[in-house]
Formats: sequence, structure tokens, C-alpha cells
Amino acid sequence: MNVKTNTPILQNWIGGEWCDSSSGETFEVLNPLDDSVYCYAAKGTGDDIRKAVAAAKSAFPAYKNTTPTERERWLLRVAEIMEERKAELVDCLIDEIGSPIQKAMFEFSKGLTMVRAAAGLCRNVRGETIPSDTPGKFSMSIREPLGVVAVITPFNVPLIKLTRLISNALAVGNTVVQLPSELSPHISVLFAQIVADAGFPPGTFNVVTGYGVDIGDDLTSSTEVDFVSFTGSTVVGQHINEICAKNRTPITLELGGKSPTVVLADADLDKVMPLAARSIFMFGGQACIATSRFYVERPIFDEFVKRFSMIASKVGMGDLRDPNTIIAPIISERQRNRVKTHIADAVEKGATVVIGGEWEGNRCQPTLLTDVSEEMTLCREETFGPVTAIYPIDSYEEGLEKANDTEFGLASAIFTQDISKALHFAQNIGAGMCHINGPTIYDEAHVPFGGNGKSGSGREGTDADLEAMTELKWITVQL
Ligand code: NAD
Repeated sequence: MNVKTNTPILQNWIGGEWCDSSSGETFEVLNPLDDSVYCYAAKGTGDDIRKAVAAAKSAFPAYKNTTPTERERWLLRVAEIMEERKAELVDCLIDEIGSPIQKAMFEFSKGLTMVRAAAGLCRNVRGETIPSDTPGKFSMSIREPLGVVAVITPFNVPLIKLTRLISNALAVGNTVVQLPSELSPHISVLFAQIVADAGFPPGTFNVVTGYGVDIGDDLTSSTEVDFVSFTGSTVVGQHINEICAKNRTPITLELGGKSPTVVLADADLDKVMPLAARSIFMFGGQACIATSRFYVERPIFDEFVKRFSMIASKVGMGDLRDPNTIIAPIISERQRNRVKTHIADAVEKGATVVIGGEWEGNRCQPTLLTDVSEEMTLCREETFGPVTAIYPIDSYEEGLEKANDTEFGLASAIFTQDISKALHFAQNIGAGMCHINGPTIYDEAHVPFGGNGKSGSGREGTDADLEAMTELKWITVQL
């Protein structure tokens, strides 16, 4: 294992101070391209979590009374500093999680938009006047922040997730404790420095790095935490949901996906094919909203597979700093084994590998499979790699039925010129998001982003977070 000289050692950011883990221990963060040590990070403990929650709790009373102008100014300053430190943030996304530069730049600009959009929320924390049945009674509601928000984020789009959720929580007057993925702590630590430099008061934003499996429960089970925003795998999400249910802690869950795209015979394949490729190959398929199931009407099935295969053969797998590179290394040994097992299991049970299936270092080639059937693991489970199955369908109705045949319900898409079928699909698909003639990989700062079933519950985005991270209070005045 290579260890670079000057390898950074990350600390926790608690109460406006950098501090080592209470145990003094650190852990290695590996660059997924070659498994060299990218950095070391404080191995946070339960005590560190409690310290961070206490810091956020004690910062809350003063912070909740800050003015919209102050919070808006701090958030806009965060965006300015992000732009000044763009190169550092983009480099981190490339070397810490293996983002090709194209994805790193995309993630940076989305993150910037998330912060700016949040700044607009500060002036929108409002209630309403309510007519009263009692003569002389003036009745109204006000909207109040909840308190301490725990933000737990995944490795794959860490900057998008932390900018959106932390900025929205801070915009409406909450304080925050963040637990980043142990695979991507550096980007959170860089963001913490930016938040501090922008002027946010000490304790309003805290980061504890460490292994979620060791210290996550200390955060989510804390009775001092008033809201949990979790993005990650379904299995961890279900565990956290049970903990939060015990304490009646409100929670949003943004979990895994098995997103379908239906392509009808009247679709314009010249337009569809680049979007189909984007839907699964971006960041090597490590996207919750990646399309892992394509249902294609039989008259165009062979042509679709042929063209998809041609595109897949040309998808860039070169230097991560080459703008033509799309395919990222798979993040960890555990995740690589998952992708390998899914492909091997499908092949053993009779799937046809149209293209791909092999590995170049830690990168899996873009892989298209046909003849995928029920008993294969990848038919139903999230693979989280550049691997997708293409199924023929005989009608739109069959496409809708098959697309709905899943326990997940995150993103979905349909390509057709038939507006009636497209809207019928949008209304009847059991997913939280549906894109007509667009790719499943799509997001904006102010939309209700989220899924159903095993893909989670609740929505995120400026308006959704405003509602989720605040509570209404009813006030009356007898005149
Ligand atoms: P993961 O579930 O392994 O980890 C996510 C986070 O949970 C990490 O910060 C981890 O440290 C933490 N964690 C682990 N155990 C915990 C516990 N007991 N208590 C609290 N926190 C704990 O997920 P990952 O591999 O980092 O990310 C990939 C998964 O995330 C995929 O399933 C993907 O679909 C999903 N994802 C969903 C969305 C969405 O918006 N729906 C977006 C991105 C990723």
C-alpha cells in the first residue's frame, strides 16, 4: 500500500474547534483508484458524537434567533468561498471517491446551486393567519426550527448531499451535526472550514468523522437530536428508522434504488441513446437514481441493444482528470465484490453479457446484460456499478407492470412520443420521481426529491426540507 508523504490527517470540527478523536485514534481513507492511502481521519467515538450534539444544542437558542439577513449572508458567503476553493473541492472529489473530473465538476456546480437556493429559504420561514370562530380572537401560526439536525451522508455524491441538507437545515434556523461516510470524510471537513470561514457561529455546524457502524447509533438514538436526515443504503436506513421510531425523532430516508426506464417503439433512439447511457454509466453506476432496468418494446429491442452496446464500447475509462472519462473506480473492496457477485450470479444462471463484465483495475467495464430472469440477484437488488439489464416488452402495459414489479420506488423514466401513455405512466408508476423523455439521473435544488418503499420516505429539496425541518406553532391573541 502506497502512503503519500504529507498525507493529511483530518480532525473533527466540534463547537468551532478542530479536535482529535477522544480515543486519539485515526483511520485510513483510501483512494479507490489504486487503494493508496488518500488521508487519515479522526476515528470519532460515541463521546465525540455526544460532544458535537451538545455543541449544536447549546448553539441553537441564539442561532434560531438570528435574522434572515444574517443567515442569508452567511450562506451566500459559503457559496463565494466554495467558488474560491473550487480546485481543492474538485480535487478532493476526484482523489477521495474516484470521481471522473466531469462528475466532480457537475457535483461542484450542483453543490453551489444547493447553497444558493438555501439562501433563498431564509426569508420563507413563515406561518399564516387563521380565521377564528371566537369573536375577538386573533389566530395565527408561526414556523419554528426543530433544533439539532443530524445529517448522515453517503460516499457517492457527498458534496451534493451535504450542501443541500446542511444549507437547508441552517437556512431555517437549525443547528447541525454531520456524520459523513467513512469513505468520504475529507469533503465534509473542507466544507466545515468553509462554513466556519463564512461566519456561521461556533457550534452551528459540527462534523464527526468515523465509522457509521460504530458511532451512528450514538447520533440517531440521542434524545438531544430533533431530526435525522439519512441518505444511504436501505439496510442501514431501516435500522435507523427503527431507532428513530422509538424516540419519535422525525426522519427523512433517502435510500437505494432499482430504477426502471421504459422505451416505447415510437421513441427517437437518436435522442434516447445518449440519455440511456448517462442513466447508468455516470460515476460508474454508483448513483441511487441510476437505471438498472431498461424495458424496451420488441420492435426496437435489437436496435436499442446494438446501439447501447456501441456506446458502451466507447465510454471513457481513462485518466480521472480527462474530461472524456466517465467510468469511475468502484469505491471499496466490499462494493467491488458485490458488483462481481451480481454479474457472476447472473451469468451462471443464464444471462447474456452483451458487452463488458470484465475489470480494469478497480473499474468495472460498462456492462449490458440481456436474458436476465427472476432468480438472478441483480434482477431485484441494487448493484451500484455500471451494470444494467435490458428486457424486451410486448406492450406499454407490460412495461408499466414490469417497471412497478419492485420493492424500490425512487426514480423512473419513459421515452415515447405518446403523451397519453407518458402521463399515464407518470401517474401510475410507484416511484417518487418520473421523467418523461429524460434520464433517471436528474435533480434540482428546489424539487421534491425522494422515493417510496425500500427507497425511503419523505422528500428533500428546499421546500420539502423547510417543511420537514421546521414545525408549526399555533398562537392566539384574545383582543
Ligand atoms: P451506507 O448505508 O453504507 O452508508 C451511508 C451512511 O450511513 C454513511 O455515512 C455511514 O457511515 C452511515 N452509517 C452506517 N451505519 C450506520 C448506523 N448504524 N447509524 C447511522 N449511520 C450509519 O451507504 P453508502 O454505501 O455510503 O451509499 C450508497 C447507498 O446510498 C446506495 O444504496 C445508494 O442508493 C444510496 N443513496 C441514496 C440516495 C438517495 O437520495 N436516495 C443518494 C445517494 C445514495
